[in-house]
Amino acid sequence: MQHIIDRFISYVTIDTESDANSQTTPSTPKQLVLAKLLVKELTAIGMTEVTIDKNGYVMGTLPSNVEHNVPTIGFVSHYDTSPDFKGEGVKPQIIANYSGGDILLNAEQNIILSPNYFKDLLQYKGQTLITTDGTTLLGADDKAGLTEIVSAMEFLLKNPEIEHGKIRVGFTPDEEIGRGADLFDVEKFGAAWAYTMDGSQIGELEYENFNAAGAKITFKGKSVHPGYAKGKMINSMLIASDFIDALPKGETPEETKGYEGFFHVTQLSGSIEESKVELIIRDHDMKKFLKRKDLVHKIVRKINEKFAKQFGEDIAVVEIKDQYYNMKEKVEPVKYIVDLAEKAMQDLGIKPLIKPIRGGTDGCRLSYMGLPCPNIFAGGHNFHGKYEYVPVESMQKAIDVIVKIAQLTATTDFSDPEILKPSKKKAKKKKK
Ligand SMILES: [Zn+2]
Repeated sequence: MQHIIDRFISYVTIDTESDANSQTTPSTPKQLVLAKLLVKELTAIGMTEVTIDKNGYVMGTLPSNVEHNVPTIGFVSHYDTSPDFKGEGVKPQIIANYSGGDILLNAEQNIILSPNYFKDLLQYKGQTLITTDGTTLLGADDKAGLTEIVSAMEFLLKNPEIEHGKIRVGFTPDEEIGRGADLFDVEKFGAAWAYTMDGSQIGELEYENFNAAGAKITFKGKSVHPGYAKGKMINSMLIASDFIDALPKGETPEETKGYEGFFHVTQLSGSIEESKVELIIRDHDMKKFLKRKDLVHKIVRKINEKFAKQFGEDIAVVEIKDQYYNMKEKVEPVKYIVDLAEKAMQDLGIKPLIKPIRGGTDGCRLSYMGLPCPNIFAGGHNFHGKYEYVPVESMQKAIDVIVKIAQLTATTDFSDPEILKPSKKKAKKKKK
């Protein structure tokens, strides 16, 4: 286990914070320090076809060790950390044999990681936790994923009796600013499917995410001296307010969960002459997603009709842009890739936690670029902040899952994907 800890610490102590305001790739040149270290390491453990392109995307190959045809699969993670919290000067602390009580992260500033607030901690009693010193994030998102992929490849290279097909690994910059998939060369990667190792707690397995769009609505007005305004003034702020009021009640992020979609007003600014509303639209279901976008158009149309005579032209202009789509559409036709990961976890005694993501992942973008790509746990908790931590045992389990998936891919007859389906669970579902 010390080997995993050492590798993880060597990654998190390199500052790789990305920057949404930068136009370059990687968004921050410092990310390349870790990218180059990864290249060195992949080469050192014996991987082939190890490359880094001009945008910092790292790829490598573990060649097949069997005679028969096996689909090439891939594992992907990102090496940048979130700009939401400080990523420089990470000083990891190792809590061996965790007692189940409070963890003092920083005595000086009295920063405590407590199971009273973070209840998930309790399931890791007796395990080894890696935490921050309370002043930075940890970067387990997603350096835990890097650690797991590199360690699994190393394990397979050292244990050639474990059968596997060709395996590709891919490490990307700038996932945290939504650009990780942008310049990913899917063709060069050349895998039939892949998994991002970028989920949170042990067992997580995700292949459904939101369909997402962003809307901007501009409302015009007419400013007239309030003393002479009757019948003449149009206050755009009041129209903007009417628009927000016309959105369905209770369909906001703070009042929805699971598969429930929402409208989320993210910006509101205005004067009498002009007001702007920005919102994001989310739904797992494509039909409902389209309905939601239609509704925004409908409300705007009604407002325009109401003011048509007085204003002369459209008083409200709406612009809706799709952002990403539910990967389920691309993964469902090859559902056996999820079943394979689920079986790998079950074989290892890990309870799979399959749930819809209320957001997007790089994997959903990659899925639409031709690389179906579910997401698997990397083990960490409380991402993007000072309370971030990762149990080493969860990282070890993630390594085991990668190895198991590699092995199952080589020993499964893909002409009959039925054999991958966990029979008990499926039978239960059908009865309902
Ligand atoms: Zn991540």
